[in-house]
Amino acid sequence: MKSLKLAARAKARKTVVQIGDVGIGSNLAVIAGPCSVESEEQTIEPARAVKSAGADMLRGGAFKPRTSPYSFQGLGIGGLRILDKARQETGLPIVTEVIDPRDVSWVAEFADVLQIGTRNMQNFSLLKEVGRAGRPVLLKRGMYSTLEEWLNCAEYVLSEGNPNVILCERGIRTFETYTRNTLDLSAVPAIRELTHLPIIIDPTHSTGRPSLIEPMSLAAVAAGADGIIVEVHWRPEEALCDADQALTPAAFAGMMKRLRPLRTFMDQQPA
Ligand code: PEP
Ligand code: MN
Repeated sequence: MKSLKLAARAKARKTVVQIGDVGIGSNLAVIAGPCSVESEEQTIEPARAVKSAGADMLRGGAFKPRTSPYSFQGLGIGGLRILDKARQETGLPIVTEVIDPRDVSWVAEFADVLQIGTRNMQNFSLLKEVGRAGRPVLLKRGMYSTLEEWLNCAEYVLSEGNPNVILCERGIRTFETYTRNTLDLSAVPAIRELTHLPIIIDPTHSTGRPSLIEPMSLAAVAAGADGIIVEVHWRPEEALCDADQALTPAAFAGMMKRLRPLRTFMDQQPA
């Protein structure tokens, strides 16, 4: 992978992306929240709940990349204002998706981390913009992309002068339909061999099934992932986006009781 001048694992040490108190790449980072921001109550109440259960950051989309143009597209700037309020009330940094290069500079004023979704992984003009935006970037793996293609997209961001890239494995398309996508857990140790950048997993979009989220999150921690990004909705069945796959705040809290202890156990094992 000769084109990876900056992303390749030449550096002796892992990159740690620092966001407030959270060091992604050193501590286990847990990012939780709704798929999309729908209203103030639907965002702030769950933000409090995920914080008290041990989440480090709040996720929520104000711009949603939907398969159908008739589906809920997100609240736009109104959603970002709600996220800003949630941050003020909880202290949780905000992870939110940007889908249009023209929006990057002003969305960056609201976001602590700019998310690039799977459908935009190879949107090179978007990658260049977020490379210049002065905010950490959460780069999801394209659902049809190889590790090499993915890392070249990270290289786009790094080569614009932004060293703070977090990779996120969110499942790839296979012939299987029981799960929404197929979580490529082998990407976690493989990425570790190839790059110094941190890698987290998304157990929600990869499985599409709440019952599989905890087992896959635990497996990801055992495989050495630096964190997870997971969808939590106060009333999953009423969610305007991805209603079938969100955890309830209670289920999230249950999972957290096992996730951090597992990481502590893993850290205690001899190398
Ligand atoms: C999301 O995180 O809300 C999302 C749309 O994810 P993905 O890009 O992985 O489908
Ligand atoms: Mn979603």
